[in-house]
Amino acid sequence: MSKVRIGLEIHCQLTQLKSKLFCSCIANYRNRDPNTNICPVCYGLPGSLPVLNKKAIEYACMIAIALGCDMPKNLTFARKNYFYPDLPKNFQITQYDSPGSDNNTCIGKSGKLEYISDKTVRIKRIQLEEDPGRLVHEIPASQSGGNSLAYTLIDYNRAGVALVEIVTEPDFNDPKEVRLFLNKITSILEYLNVCNTNLEGSVRCDANVSIGAGKKVEIKNVGSFKDVEKALSYEITRQKTMGLHEIEVKGETRHWDDKRKITKQSRSKEEEEDYRYFPEPDIPIIKIENEFILNLSSKMPELPDQRRKRFIENYQLSEHVSEVLINHKEIADLFEKAVKIYQSPKSISNWIVSDLMGFIDYESLEGKPLNEIIKIDEKHIAELARLVDENKINRTVAKKILTQIVNSGEMPTRIIDRSELTKIGDSKTILEFIEQVFMSEKNAINDANKNPNVANFLLGKVMQKTKGNIDPKKALEIIKKKLEEHK
Ligand SMILES: [Zn+2]
Repeated sequence: MSKVRIGLEIHCQLTQLKSKLFCSCIANYRNRDPNTNICPVCYGLPGSLPVLNKKAIEYACMIAIALGCDMPKNLTFARKNYFYPDLPKNFQITQYDSPGSDNNTCIGKSGKLEYISDKTVRIKRIQLEEDPGRLVHEIPASQSGGNSLAYTLIDYNRAGVALVEIVTEPDFNDPKEVRLFLNKITSILEYLNVCNTNLEGSVRCDANVSIGAGKKVEIKNVGSFKDVEKALSYEITRQKTMGLHEIEVKGETRHWDDKRKITKQSRSKEEEEDYRYFPEPDIPIIKIENEFILNLSSKMPELPDQRRKRFIENYQLSEHVSEVLINHKEIADLFEKAVKIYQSPKSISNWIVSDLMGFIDYESLEGKPLNEIIKIDEKHIAELARLVDENKINRTVAKKILTQIVNSGEMPTRIIDRSELTKIGDSKTILEFIEQVFMSEKNAINDANKNPNVANFLLGKVMQKTKGNIDPKKALEIIKKKLEEHK
């Protein structure tokens, strides 16, 4: 079988910057009226000059350090020329090293990342560039029947936002690996606090795929990581089928059609020379001093792999539990905050991994902050774990309470005080408690024939055991039935 080779180009916006890459327009372009977050630099008006955002260099270098890249001595920018409506200057300011050149002038080169145990991908290059504007394809409501009057609007609010492009070598052989890698990258970006990956469009991914000696096909415009996986699976099947029929695969760019779930040819692929790269004359060469890198390295926040090791060592958690916790920074933070309130890492991690994670599958987390999905914080988890550990409630009841917390955000004790639900309602759980009492009160049960008060005595014991969290009417019914069976 010919080998499948997949490479990725990931674009992530440095959303945590205050301003854009080359001007003082604010970086947060979202939820603004179109074309209100712009200036002559964004528009590329004649005479306007770009001024490089120093913090953007710092953030991009942090990504390069996290991915084990070689750093440049001299950082330069280049113009990538192409005509497209979202690019008012007709060129994009980006970084470029001509193919085969040993010279490193990009933010990072030759890195690597182990994204699951024993699977490592090589990072070819990391570069800093500006995001183009956004095209909004509108079809007037009155004309929704036909496409002939469809038009496109341009919003330049995004133009000039700092973007870090991460290019991998074609080291993936399976779309599933790609998904795992993307999750890992997202998690690293979160930990570095350079990109809020929950924001729509803040992390975007293009992929290229080839089979055996076949040509490379690029897939663009994929909306979500889930769709990257789907688009790649489709494309691999398409190329394999062509191979079976001895049809040559063309080197081209294809777009993912989300509605029909297929890739479609969009244009034949541009070659690098089409872009006529040349050095950006308006931005001087930036010297990257050793001291700058050393200083930055010493200030790096804890990364997912380091946190996993710390969780295993400090909290005596298993490899698996630590992995689930650290994958999303918000989940790992939730765990550590809860442990500060109630020092029982075992039970807290157990509640998060075995129960809470059931409410927050990864797909729903992609693109949303945790508190939009569930109304739970560290206080809830700590209290719930403590109530169960102190036998105030049993696990079955606690699970029901958890469902309520997730939806309402109420504290467990409040739910217990108020709710009928926490009076253990289901017969199976009541029966479990009654059986325990029957085991320990054998003498009383033997007296039951002579003494009519035994049923109430046993009920009292059950109430004690459940701290009153039980429906007494139901329990008494079951006790009487069981005593009948005993006669
Ligand atoms: Zn601007």
